[in-house]
Amino acid sequence: MTKFPIVEPEVNDYLKSLSKEEIHEVINHFHGRKLKINQIIEMYKLEKISISTFVKTLPPVQHHDLICPECKVVSWKNHLARNSKSVPFCPKCGEDLICYFNSIEYQRKMEFLKERELWQQKMDPDYYEQEISVTKEKFETLSLFQKVFLGSIVQAIVEDDLFTIKGKLLKEFKLFPIPEELNEQLIELGITEGDDFTEYKYNIEKDVTKELLNCDNKLGSTLKQQLELWHVIAKAESKEYLIGEMEYSNFRYHHDNKFEEVFSILFQNHSVAQTFHLINKSVADACKLYAQRGNRYLSENSVIGACARMADYYPTRGWPILNYERRKYHQSLMSQYFFNRLLKIGNRGFYNTPTLELLLHNNFNIIE
Ligand SMILES: [Zn+2]
Repeated sequence: MTKFPIVEPEVNDYLKSLSKEEIHEVINHFHGRKLKINQIIEMYKLEKISISTFVKTLPPVQHHDLICPECKVVSWKNHLARNSKSVPFCPKCGEDLICYFNSIEYQRKMEFLKERELWQQKMDPDYYEQEISVTKEKFETLSLFQKVFLGSIVQAIVEDDLFTIKGKLLKEFKLFPIPEELNEQLIELGITEGDDFTEYKYNIEKDVTKELLNCDNKLGSTLKQQLELWHVIAKAESKEYLIGEMEYSNFRYHHDNKFEEVFSILFQNHSVAQTFHLINKSVADACKLYAQRGNRYLSENSVIGACARMADYYPTRGWPILNYERRKYHQSLMSQYFFNRLLKIGNRGFYNTPTLELLLHNNFNIIE
């Protein structure tokens, strides 16, 4: 058998008083576990140090089973802890020398490591593959929806530099009632289709940050744009409630187009709080229908139409459509920012029908 050369490790100053054999014994005692570290230290008349420092002073051991294929020298193993050594590595080129005899296992292991690395990158709040910069010029071209999105994330988590927003931190917040709809609306901002806004880092020009925090001129929006966004948020909040109530009763929601049509009309005369009442009653009726007929699809399909029918029927009997509370469906950040900071109408955004009149007579509104 060919004898491959070995590379002698340097001896740490801490162990300089010991002979080569004694160092070898110290290492054996260290991994042997029969003696406490302090006993080993005493035995060899060494200075008292912590175990974590002690382990670092031990020279690597020669691992004759593996030779670096490049440098043709015997590999080393480092000491990690008591009874634990590193994988063999080459003392010359530093390469880890892991010997995989099973290539499938090796591939699996590599895939696993790669996945773990990706996962770690994903979880690291400071690692971003993509960034979005919002200059003053870009900001002016954005829709009111996108501006309100930026306003709410700035208000929530802008860093102390008044510039950086780490998107991953937004995972902790509810930005918008229907998350899927949010991503769609942010494509013009620079979010790639199919991506999530929390995967991005946002760099927002300081002047823009200040404008978003102040919100003085209502971010340059017209009353018409404000009313439109009110409708968008109202619909999303109702849809969230509808989906939640249906799922609670084990119904599936699959009626986006119908919802859009029916609720656009409902919001001409009703508030979000009132649609909660209509939804609650309609889902309860659907449950009764399901109990009678046993037809789930029919029952699911009846809910949205029942909301519209009830909205028409109640007034003819002189019955009020009561306001419900938000309860478990707590208000999203965008909704808070829009109603409290931008419109400054607070809960009236929830308890009132979205109308131009209310916006016009809103004391805080500057009519241009
Ligand atoms: Zn090597």
